[in-house]
Amino acid sequence: MPKTSAGEKVLNDLGYKLGQTLGEGSFSKVKAATSTKHKVPLAIKVVDRQRAPSAFLYKFLPRELSILRKIRHPNIVQILELIEVCNGKLYIVMEAAAFDLLQLLHEQGKLPCTPQARDIFAQIVGAVRYLHDRNLVHRDLKCENVLLTADSRRAKLTDFSFSKEVNVYPDMCTTFCGSAAYASPEVLTGIPYDGKKSDMWSLGVMLFVMVTGFMPFNDTHVRTLHKQQKKGVLYPEGAPPLPEPCKALIAQLLNFSAECRPGAGQVAKNCWLNGVN
Ligand code: ADP
Ligand code: MG
Repeated sequence: MPKTSAGEKVLNDLGYKLGQTLGEGSFSKVKAATSTKHKVPLAIKVVDRQRAPSAFLYKFLPRELSILRKIRHPNIVQILELIEVCNGKLYIVMEAAAFDLLQLLHEQGKLPCTPQARDIFAQIVGAVRYLHDRNLVHRDLKCENVLLTADSRRAKLTDFSFSKEVNVYPDMCTTFCGSAAYASPEVLTGIPYDGKKSDMWSLGVMLFVMVTGFMPFNDTHVRTLHKQQKKGVLYPEGAPPLPEPCKALIAQLLNFSAECRPGAGQVAKNCWLNGVN
């Protein structure tokens, strides 16, 4: 019989049962779970404090937990309970999704430009607008961090590992966060940056991936990536033709100058997102 850890014993006592692994990060694993208390399918993010470096433990994790406790939005994954166990494990109990957006894209290649991509993107813009209105920045917006229901109709933003409160807007951020392929030019170059405008860039990358199935900028070297960003987005051969208003929105979000990018409130009113092709 497999050994039960001290943490799992505590979870079992609280009525939780862990199942298969849904996703894995450097210091955490997300597992499917069931519970006698919450009758819905659950996911539990198991954070191993003992494996984590101090920046994660004393800076990012406390921020993530404080932000998760504060936010509630239909397009942000709902946290149901936080369980701390003295063996260094932290369990973040949340509602379960069927898969993430990257998994859906791997299955489908790309999303037909409308209405599926538009609907999912509009929901994520709504979640980001909610955060930005509260002076919260996500800083790791990417397809893997968008969860979907089984029918792919409801999207929920997750993974607040790099999220931060920007007290006096525009409070500049300085930490390189998230993954390079989604990072704005200013994040890549390491200059102080406006977290909200960087989030808008990442949304542009996400939209491009959703409607074309390609990454807009793709290189393992940060300097080459930055050069590509400066030249502007190129639609690869084989990319499907897109409605002009959709391309215009991508160009606005992927504007090299942070101050020229629209805010989430403006994007929510965008004509393509509201039905113009
Ligand atoms: P990390 O900080 O390791 O990236 P995430 O919170 O992004 O952690 O979770 C990693 C992966 O686990 C996600 O990309 C997704 O595939 C899966 N996952 C996370 N939360 C859930 C959930 N609530 N329901 C289903 N799958 C999830
Ligand atoms: Mg993640």
